[in-house]
Amino acid sequence: MMGSQGTEMTHWRKVYLILLSVDDGITGYRDDSLETVKRNQQQYDLPLKIVSYEELYGWTMDAIVKQIGLKNNCTFCGVFRRQALDRGAMILKVDKIVTGHNADDIAETVIMNVLRGDIARLRRCTAITTGMDGALPRCKPFKYTYEKEIVMYAYFKKLDYFSTECIYSPNAYRGFARAFIKDLEKIRPSAIIDIIHSGESLSVKKEVRMPVQGLCSRCGCMSSNPVCKACVLLEGLNRGLPRQVCVLAVATCPATQCVKPACFWRDSTEDCHDSVLARSTKKGGSWQTSWLEKNLRVLQVLLQCLVRWTTSQHRSHVEVPAVGSLWTAPPQT
Ligand code: SF4
Repeated sequence: MMGSQGTEMTHWRKVYLILLSVDDGITGYRDDSLETVKRNQQQYDLPLKIVSYEELYGWTMDAIVKQIGLKNNCTFCGVFRRQALDRGAMILKVDKIVTGHNADDIAETVIMNVLRGDIARLRRCTAITTGMDGALPRCKPFKYTYEKEIVMYAYFKKLDYFSTECIYSPNAYRGFARAFIKDLEKIRPSAIIDIIHSGESLSVKKEVRMPVQGLCSRCGCMSSNPVCKACVLLEGLNRGLPRQVCVLAVATCPATQCVKPACFWRDSTEDCHDSVLARSTKKGGSWQTSWLEKNLRVLQVLLQCLVRWTTSQHRSHVEVPAVGSLWTAPPQT
């Protein structure tokens, strides 16, 4: 719980509250806001747990931005934050996560999910409580409360809250949805609530298959894929290849035990191209043979991506790995 919303929620004393904050490691933004949260802990005499990206993932957002630039930083931040909240809640052994999302946030999320064509998220983003069938339901009690109402309340009650903008927010996709809604509000003041009601009224045909929630085979966190997106993103960061964000899980080469782009296929039992090359050379194969073997693998990866993309219901989620690094130029003769 963070910001004016988190401050406000500490007045809600009918349940046992524990403050949970995520330190994403954004200098000049999160450090300031965490100071406010620490003061809130004193003011409201509530226990506080802070989990950081650095301790959970080994990366701060500053380090991630340094590595990947300012284009996809919010993707990393959003995926890591969502999981960090789950992990923090599990450490605290709480039975529910209560977030401070307000009506403006929900309306922006509806628009973003429409623009992304993400029907699964579109269906659940307006629900006041999600994950009721899982171990950690989440609820959004401020779902119908405008951001400006919360800020005005906190201001007039002289509550201690922060309102700093993230230094990386100018490039956030959400920012465009927010600007769009603000424009809509000028001509239709009820636009925010209308968008939320539109989201609530959408229904999906029964025959449309939705992703099934399971557990990530690596970290054990909630995921609709065998390997969760946080693990996939982290793998890319740790290998220094963040731009080839690939939803296809990595696998270890059975021959060399290394994880390489060529081995990017989930449940792959095939060897990576380095081991193919080594075998080929050992067998006395020519460079042409090994070069062809290497690049056939690239074509195979692309073909598999294409098949996956055409058969996926969530096409926007299937990204083709950057094959440039897999492709091997023929030796100069
Ligand atoms: Fe993270 Fe992006 Fe939000 Fe900044 S704007 S806190 S980088 S999601």
